[in-house]
Amino acid sequence: LFNKDLGQHILKNPLVAQGIVDKAYLRPTDTVLEIGPGTGNLTVKILEKCKKVVAVEMDPRLAAELQKRVHGTPDQKKLEIMIGDFMKAKLPYFDVCISNTPYQISSVLVFKLLEHRPVFRSSVLMFQREFALRLVAKPGDSLYCRLSVNVQLFAKVEHIMKVGKNNFRPPPQVESSVVRMEPRNPPPPVDFKEWDGLMRILFVRKNKTLSANFKTESVMEMLETNYKTYCATHDMMLEDPLDMKAKVQGVLTKVGMAEERAAKMDQDDYLKLLAAFNEECIHFC
Ligand code: SAM
Repeated sequence: LFNKDLGQHILKNPLVAQGIVDKAYLRPTDTVLEIGPGTGNLTVKILEKCKKVVAVEMDPRLAAELQKRVHGTPDQKKLEIMIGDFMKAKLPYFDVCISNTPYQISSVLVFKLLEHRPVFRSSVLMFQREFALRLVAKPGDSLYCRLSVNVQLFAKVEHIMKVGKNNFRPPPQVESSVVRMEPRNPPPPVDFKEWDGLMRILFVRKNKTLSANFKTESVMEMLETNYKTYCATHDMMLEDPLDMKAKVQGVLTKVGMAEERAAKMDQDDYLKLLAAFNEECIHFC
C-alpha cells in the first residue's frame, strides 16, 4: 500500500499530529511550507490555523489523495500542492515549516531550510531520535558533534517531544523525535565554508586536545597549501623557511586553547578560534 522507498510511514495518532501543529505556534497570517504531507493528517490541522499551506509531495498518488481530502471544504483554496522532490524544489516564501519526511534526507533538509532566504520564523520537524538528539546536543553531551555545532550556529534547536514507532502506520524501525528549529535572524556573519573546515578538523577526534588534532600530517598539509595560496593571491611574501606547525600551534597558545577539547567547547570558543586563525592568514577552505 505505502511506498517504502519514499519512507511512507503515516502518522496515525491524532494527538501527536495536533501536538506538532500546536508547537508551531501558527498565526492566522502565516504561510506554512509542509514537506511530505502524505495523506494529509498534519495538513488538515495546519490549514485550520494559518492563511496558506504550500505542501511539497513527491508521490502523485498521495498528492491526489490529499487534494481529494480538502475538496469542497473551505480549506481547499488555502492549500497549494507542489508535486515533486523537496530536495530539488525551488521553495516559495514561507513563515513556518512543518515536516515529517523520510529520515534519509534529514541532514540535507535541515541545511536546505537554513540556507533559504528570506529567513523563516520557525520550523517543527520530525526526525529519527538519534538525529534529533544530535541536533540539540550541547558541549559535553556524548552526541555533541559537527552537526550540532553547524546547525546551532544558524538556529536555536529544541527537543519538543518523543514519538514512539507505534504512532505510525506502518511502524518504522526506529524511534522518532520532534524538534523545533528557529533560525537566528539575522544569520551570524560567518563564512560557513571556513567554519565547517575548522569543525571538520576539530571533530575528527573531538576528545583529543586541539594541539594534538592540529599535528596531524594531512591537516598540516591542507593548511600549508591554503596558506601559500592565500599569500600568493594577497601579494604577501612567504616566510623562509615556513614552519606551518609552529605558526598553527602559536595561534592555539595565543588564544589559550592548545589543551582544550572540541567536545567541551561552545560556539563562542570556535568563533574566537576561527578569528584568531584568520588574523594570521590561516584559512580552512
Ligand atoms: N506527513 C505525513 C504524515 O505525517 O502522516 C506523511 C509522512 S511519511 C513519513 C513521508 C512523506 O514524505 C510521504 O508522503 C512521502 O511520499 C513524502 N516524501 C518522501 N520523500 C520526499 C521528497 N524528497 N520530497 C517530498 N516528499 C517526499
